[in-house]
Amino acid sequence: MSTVLITGAARGLGLEFTKQYAAKGWKIHACARNPESLIGIEGDIHPHKLEVTDYDAVKALAKELSAEAIDVLICNAGVGGEGSHAGQAFGSFDPVLWRHVFEVNSFAPLMMAEAFAEHVARSTERKLIAISSILGSLASNNGGRYAYRASKTALNMEWSCLAKDLAPRGIICIALHPGWVQTDMGGSTASLTIDQSVPPMVKTIAALKPSDNGRFLQYDGTELAW
Ligand code: NDP
Repeated sequence: MSTVLITGAARGLGLEFTKQYAAKGWKIHACARNPESLIGIEGDIHPHKLEVTDYDAVKALAKELSAEAIDVLICNAGVGGEGSHAGQAFGSFDPVLWRHVFEVNSFAPLMMAEAFAEHVARSTERKLIAISSILGSLASNNGGRYAYRASKTALNMEWSCLAKDLAPRGIICIALHPGWVQTDMGGSTASLTIDQSVPPMVKTIAALKPSDNGRFLQYDGTELAW
C-alpha cells in the first residue's frame, strides 16, 4: 500500500488531494489545523492536528510516524498574506505580514522536509513535493505581491537545494505550481476549478521519475522557468 502525507489537508487544494488519494486506495496522513472537518470522507485517512509553524509539533508527528514509509509528502499548506494584493504593494511594507507569510510558505515546508526525509527515503516512490506558485518565478515576474512572491521564490530555492542534497537518498524533489485555482486563496474568478488542477497534479506526481528531480513544474507537468 502507498502512503501520502499532506499538510493543509482540510480545505482547498489539500482537501482535494486527500479525496483523490483516498479514491486511489492510498493511506493518507491528513494534517490540518482542524482535522475534525475530515471526518466522514471515505478512505484510509489518518487525520493529524498540525499547525505547520509549530516546529515541535512537526518533530513530534515525525516521531509518532517513525515506523512509516511515506511515498509522497506534499507540503501544501500556504497563505497568501492578509489583505493580499494591496497590503503587499510597493510602499506598504509590513514586517508582521512578511514574517507570517515566510513562516508558513518558506520555513515550515523546509522543517517538514527535514523532519520527514527519512520516512520518504525508506518508501518506494520517494517524492517530496512543494506546492509552490508561478508567482515565485523570477523569470516570469511582473511585480507586486512582494511577500507572497518572495516566500515562494525562497521555497523554490529550498527545493532546488533539497534536490541536490537528497539525491543520494533517491528522493525526487519537485516544486509544483497548481495553476490559478478557485479556492479561498485563488478566489472565484481564478481560471481553473479544483477538478481541473488537482487530478492533473496527482497524475504528474505519479509520473515523476528520478531524472525529474529538481524540476519546477505546473499542474499538468509542463516545465516552468525558475
Ligand atoms: P486555501 O486558502 O484554500 O487553503 C490553504 C490551506 O493551507 C488550508 O488548508 C489552511 O488550513 C492551510 N494552512 C494555512 N496556514 C497554515 C498553518 N499555519 N498551519 C497549517 N495549515 C495551514 O489555499 P489553496 O488550497 O489555494 O492553496 C494551497 C497551496 O497552493 C498554497 O501553498 C498556495 O500558496 C498554493 N497555490 C495556490 C494557488 C491558487 O490559485 N489557489 C496558486 C498557486 C499556488 P486552515 O483550513 O486551517 O486555514
